Amino acid sequence: MKHNFGAGPCILPQEVFQEASQAVIDFNNTGLSILEISHRSKEFEQVIQEAEALVRELMDVPSDYSVLFLQGGASQQFAMVPMNLLPEGRKAAYLDTGVWATKAAKEASKVGQVAIVASSSDKNYSYIPKEFSVPSDAAYFHYTSNNTIYGTEIFEKPNVDVPTIVDMSSDILSRVINIADFDLIYAGAQKNMGPAGVTLVIVKNDILGRTGRTLPAIFDYEAHAKAGSLYNTPPVFSIYVSMLNLRWLKEKGGISVIEQENIIKARTLYDEIERNPFFRGTANEQDRSRMNVTFVMDTPEQESAFLKLAQERGMVGIKGHRSVGGFRASIYNALGISSINALVDVMKEFEELSK
Ligand SMILES: *Cc1c(COP(=O)(O)O)cnc(C)c1O
Repeated sequence: MKHNFGAGPCILPQEVFQEASQAVIDFNNTGLSILEISHRSKEFEQVIQEAEALVRELMDVPSDYSVLFLQGGASQQFAMVPMNLLPEGRKAAYLDTGVWATKAAKEASKVGQVAIVASSSDKNYSYIPKEFSVPSDAAYFHYTSNNTIYGTEIFEKPNVDVPTIVDMSSDILSRVINIADFDLIYAGAQKNMGPAGVTLVIVKNDILGRTGRTLPAIFDYEAHAKAGSLYNTPPVFSIYVSMLNLRWLKEKGGISVIEQENIIKARTLYDEIERNPFFRGTANEQDRSRMNVTFVMDTPEQESAFLKLAQERGMVGIKGHRSVGGFRASIYNALGISSINALVDVMKEFEELSK
């Protein structure tokens, strides 16, 4: 048995893989594969409508927001956000909490002016800057709620009075949020929602269409909203598998239930990191992520010995990102507590063996 701690593409529930594999052979007794049905067929229409309805229900999305399923990953959103929301001559405010936040700001600077309101690059992004102010004339404020590489997370929306845009790629659906706090939320599906290939965008309708800029339709949120995410051929299979995962989440009891599990999972792992003399967390304690747990050891020799032992015990994907080193355990929704316990057991075993 493998325990998949990979940062993305992520683990999904076994039930979802089972059902998706069946649909590849014969989708809902149509005699056709999900891979060959028309995206304009009534069968797929039902899939995308159910996916949207589940997002709306699970996240309690107000009716004046559009729910879109786009392509190009979160990286395309780095460009689409300023193209759609940053008027000529105006400025956008960005909080710099890691590589993804930096990339988002860099893409925006190709469209207009960008102000970095604060950065934690001075300590390799191991904390979240708290004291900063956003200029009241900024067109919008952008931040990354969970910094996948560094293992930090922003749980409270910063208090700003301009429209707020958030990259929730790696903590979407992991905890209850108030959609009305945000004007646009985006997330590449492959961290916590589904397979790679689809990006979820939830956008408040009345912030759109105000830049005076004419956009190619493919980069225009309004064009996608008007077409119900069917402006062009959507990623049919990725949307289908995401829909299955959203069903799974609903059957589990929804986001408030998974949030409690996620709290326990993260606490279990952080407790062991704190207790075990061989390991050290890299993120500032009050900013620690519930989705990506980053930790290091004292020497490269210890780290390679631990990695080897962990791999022998079925752990996959725990090597840290090269910019932090050490280890990163990504503990997304579908990863059960039994996998957390298995990792804790390996950490204890390493301690015993080293005595
Ligand atoms: C992975 C990740 C991205 C990049 O996503 P792509 O879909 O590969 O473009 C952006 N932001 C965050 C927070 C991520 O974790």
